[in-house]
Amino acid sequence: MDLYGVFGNPIEHSLSPIIHTQFAQQTGCAIKYDKFLAPIDDFSNSTKAFINQGGKGFNITVPFKIEAFNLATELTLNAQTAGAVNTIKVKGNQLIGENTDGIGLVNDLTKNLGINLNNKTILILGAGGATRGILLPLLNQQPKRLMIANRTASKAKQLALDFCSHGKTCGFGLDKVKNDPVDIVINATSASLNGKMPTIANGVANGAICYDLMYGTQTPFMDWAQTNHAHKVVDGLGMLVEQAAAAFEFWTGKQPNTQIVIKNLRR
Ligand code: NAP
Repeated sequence: MDLYGVFGNPIEHSLSPIIHTQFAQQTGCAIKYDKFLAPIDDFSNSTKAFINQGGKGFNITVPFKIEAFNLATELTLNAQTAGAVNTIKVKGNQLIGENTDGIGLVNDLTKNLGINLNNKTILILGAGGATRGILLPLLNQQPKRLMIANRTASKAKQLALDFCSHGKTCGFGLDKVKNDPVDIVINATSASLNGKMPTIANGVANGAICYDLMYGTQTPFMDWAQTNHAHKVVDGLGMLVEQAAAAFEFWTGKQPNTQIVIKNLRR
């Protein structure tokens, strides 16, 4: 059995073991995937113990994605631009860091939901780690315009500057969001975790696809989108499964069937 796992704090809620166990069954890989609670101040030693036991790779979730970035001895382009790592492959003495969050979101939007992002106007709410991770894969789809709106305007402006060489980006405060509809609104704030909705103009939801990165519950953002006549309202469960699939492929070279797993989890 090859050993894999996920490190986080808290970790109890993680669906990753269920997802990866289903991927392993589908693809005939002999894999054992566990979840590990790493002490807040001892992420690095927790992962070392796992590697010493023969661990072949691991996922990293809140709050260790930046520490994982620093732990990696090699980085993929996605990980470099995201400035964070959610997947590590152990290859001899090398720890190869990847970030599959953005690929996960793009695959859910394009493959599972059938949405073409090319030439679309996209508004992202939030300018934290998740936004940084999804920007390059979204810009690679060549949207018409990608706007980042954040409670702290300076962070949105900085992110827009950091990524402007990859496509048309702009950043501003949530209070500057205009009341005009856009094609896609992505809630990448952590407001949903606290049962809150980032305050923005209602008109932007009209006819838009509204996607909350949060999963597992109907969020205030999803309620707001429905009330304000969104074309489609989606949670982040598909992204979770797709980012796991990209990690699984990074480790094993095998592509699992994600749609079956998403259906199983929704049931
Ligand atoms: P983060 O780095 O802590 O950033 C949080 C962001 O939310 C910041 O931009 C912050 O604004 C904003 N924010 C927080 N509370 C707010 C409020 N009440 N009103 C408006 N804005 C608020 O968090 P993250 O790592 O980017 O994660 C964001 C979300 O994505 C989380 O819900 C996480 O669970 C989800 N996520 C899902 C997946 C998936 O696979 N589905 C993957 C990754 C992340 P300020 O800058 O002004 O503080």
